[in-house]
Amino acid sequence: MQVNAYGAHAGNQPLEPLRINRRAPNAHDVQIEIAFCGICHSDLHQVRSEWEGTQYPCVPGHEIVGRVTQVGAHVSAFKRGDLVGVGCIVDSCQHCEDCDAGLENYCDGMIGTYNFPAPDAPGWTLGGYSQAIVVHERYVLRIGHPEEQLAAVAPLLCAGITTYSPLRHWNAGPGKKVGVVGIGGLGHMGIKLAHAMGAHVVAFTTSENKREAALELGADEVVVSRDASQMAVHAKSFDFILNTVAAPHDLDAFLVLLKRDGAMTLVGAPASPHTSPNVFNLIMKRRTLAGSMIGGIAETQEMLDFCAEHGIVADIELVRAEQINEAYERMLRGEVKYRFVIDNASLAG
Ligand code: NAP
Ligand code: ZN
Repeated sequence: MQVNAYGAHAGNQPLEPLRINRRAPNAHDVQIEIAFCGICHSDLHQVRSEWEGTQYPCVPGHEIVGRVTQVGAHVSAFKRGDLVGVGCIVDSCQHCEDCDAGLENYCDGMIGTYNFPAPDAPGWTLGGYSQAIVVHERYVLRIGHPEEQLAAVAPLLCAGITTYSPLRHWNAGPGKKVGVVGIGGLGHMGIKLAHAMGAHVVAFTTSENKREAALELGADEVVVSRDASQMAVHAKSFDFILNTVAAPHDLDAFLVLLKRDGAMTLVGAPASPHTSPNVFNLIMKRRTLAGSMIGGIAETQEMLDFCAEHGIVADIELVRAEQINEAYERMLRGEVKYRFVIDNASLAG
């Protein structure tokens, strides 16, 4: 099947309309008509070749929601008409220690939704900036939110799970002081989720004009991280800090805010490295500096169910496919509250 998509032919070229192939569903496949797809900062890193190994044409998009249009002969968990989601993972080896633990995101054979090797033409996966996608049932998620919220559910498939997973792993909850650094697509979800988990949430932003908005998202306090005096108030006080910043910055400024045994986890993946932190800031209070990548399929379903139960969706601005390049520029300038989502019906053209 040929469908319309939006992608780039090179890292220095804008995204443009493309025609791509989708395989006919195999026995365990689910074919999905994509209704909406979120725009993650990772899409921009990848399509502009800021990370290594981008293949062209590159069709990004891993915050996918839509409706099942067809299923393979052996699929029993999904049927035509179901509302479903697909996140960053479309395949994995399915038999290693990580897959067995439901942590397909850490499988060495994980196949990402775009730019990973695939048997289908053109030889690598093509993502959700397209009209339809065909995915093995193991990697398809069930959506329990009301259909009117579907567009705002899309960002949960990456921004939601990437913040939910570390917040759970490092035990965010009642009695814990949790910081969220960078109030963008990921960070705004981090605030909502940490708040819903019952933690005391402090938002760190470089943008003074996000103060009120961060409080509305559920932050108990807001700190403008460029202001050393505001930062000093919080020295040695955090159990956990989730750092979503998409650019290299001074990690020490945040490490010193952790109390004994506190941890800061990096989920932001900037194109160039951070300056190495001062080892003494780790040694002195037995602090941890860690990383985390998206989340497994079971935990992604758990996160979607948690969000449906708590009425949590992303704050979004809906755009048409032809506005994607402009949306990228605005995302870089921090001019979105907080996630662009593509209305994939605009690809019909
Ligand atoms: P985003 O919407 O652009 O948000 C990033 C935020 O970081 C900005 O809103 C801004 O917040 C802050 N920021 C940007 N430049 C900064 C700078 N120079 N110094 C300090 N703060 C700065 O991006 P996103 O979609 O949330 O993604 C964030 C990062 O996570 C990206 O690198 C993305 O590739 C990565 N990511 C990782 C995973 C994973 O599995 N680990 C998954 C998805 C995305 P303020 O205005 O509040 O300061
Ligand atoms: Zn993403």
